[in-house]
Amino acid sequence: MKLTQLTATNELAIFSGSPAFEQKLHVGRPNIGKREALLDRINDLLDRRWLTNNGPYVQEFEQSIADKVGVKHCIAMCNATVALEIVIRAAGLTGEVIVPSFTFVATAHALQWQEITPVFCDIDSQTHNINPSQIERMITPRTTGIIGVHLWGRSCDIDALTDIAQRHNLKLLFDAAHAFGCSYQGKMIGSFGNAEVFSFHATKFFNTLEGGAVVTNDDELATKIRLMKNFGFAGYDKVIYLGTNGKMNEVSAVMGLTGLESLEEFIATNYRNYQQYKQELADIPGVQLTTYDETEKCNYQYIILEIEECLTQVSRDQLVEILNAENVLARRYFFPGCHRMEPYRSYYPHAGLLLPETERLTTRLMSLPTGTGVGAAEISKICQIIRLVVTHSSEIKARLLQPVATKTPTAIAS
Ligand SMILES: *Cc1c(COP(=O)(O)O)cnc(C)c1O
Repeated sequence: MKLTQLTATNELAIFSGSPAFEQKLHVGRPNIGKREALLDRINDLLDRRWLTNNGPYVQEFEQSIADKVGVKHCIAMCNATVALEIVIRAAGLTGEVIVPSFTFVATAHALQWQEITPVFCDIDSQTHNINPSQIERMITPRTTGIIGVHLWGRSCDIDALTDIAQRHNLKLLFDAAHAFGCSYQGKMIGSFGNAEVFSFHATKFFNTLEGGAVVTNDDELATKIRLMKNFGFAGYDKVIYLGTNGKMNEVSAVMGLTGLESLEEFIATNYRNYQQYKQELADIPGVQLTTYDETEKCNYQYIILEIEECLTQVSRDQLVEILNAENVLARRYFFPGCHRMEPYRSYYPHAGLLLPETERLTTRLMSLPTGTGVGAAEISKICQIIRLVVTHSSEIKARLLQPVATKTPTAIAS
């Protein structure tokens, strides 16, 4: 890390300075629990030679998650995308399903993969979650369900969604990939709707290398999902259902069991980082940190900024570019929105007309590094860079435009 205080725009790496950080700072750098405990368990599972197929560690992991969430069933899977695909099929969804476009593309792909049409619904500008008041106009005779996404771990308006689903006889699922360890009205996320899906991917604050889980209180649905994630096997040589391979392996399960022992520490680190970002970014005009409701349980795993270009003068994209040059790998989350990705943009070229808030936020939000891989000094530096950029925005903007400005007259002259 450069030790000098950044004071002049000249020191920015995008112009002539050296990057503020020698090592790249990633969004979603994995949190790793106690290595010794992990290696002991890996040795144990190797001794046992039980590597997958509902092994003892997977069973223990499922029980731990179910206890933590306060839900009857947890079915661990190889990843959240396959978990979504399976729960969508097990819940009997067909035709059309209403989902936000402002999410990771897997939410939409899990539907389209089985030729169910994702009908994109707009989000609320404050919560960034699916807007219940926009849902009913998207319901058609082909609609069979709603999938809410608890974006950044902030819960959807679950009461409103539950009410709509009940009144229209629709299934309600939640992509809770961001929301492990979070609550809604004091109750842990994971027990709402017909089922919810967690992701334990390496980039999530709690990981099993790759992994995910379906959690549900519905016995029948749980039984179906267990069959489906294991080729439909009900016993040796006995297949009673269409299935696929969604199983979690034992190494992933021990990564999870070990991570669970450090879960409170991961959350405490995320919380500390969040508080620091909040403090150090507080009075920068046009830079607004997305906040969490501290009366709820929360994992604080995303540091999301909303950039209001008319105040900062530099755009979100320019700020991301400047930070990337400093080796702060800030990301545009979620950009450009599922409806602007293939195959959806070809299938539904006009979807954006019904998604004004989604279109607005995809140009304004960005995500900053946090987690156990980032320390207080690094966060200070990141905030300092952002402050420098906004305070000197007109100078920076002019310099960013320079190559174009000098080229244009020559081009015209020749
Ligand atoms: C990460 C993520 C997924 C996919 O999870 P995998 O475990 O990587 O398949 C799905 N939805 C959202 C919102 C995500 O962030």
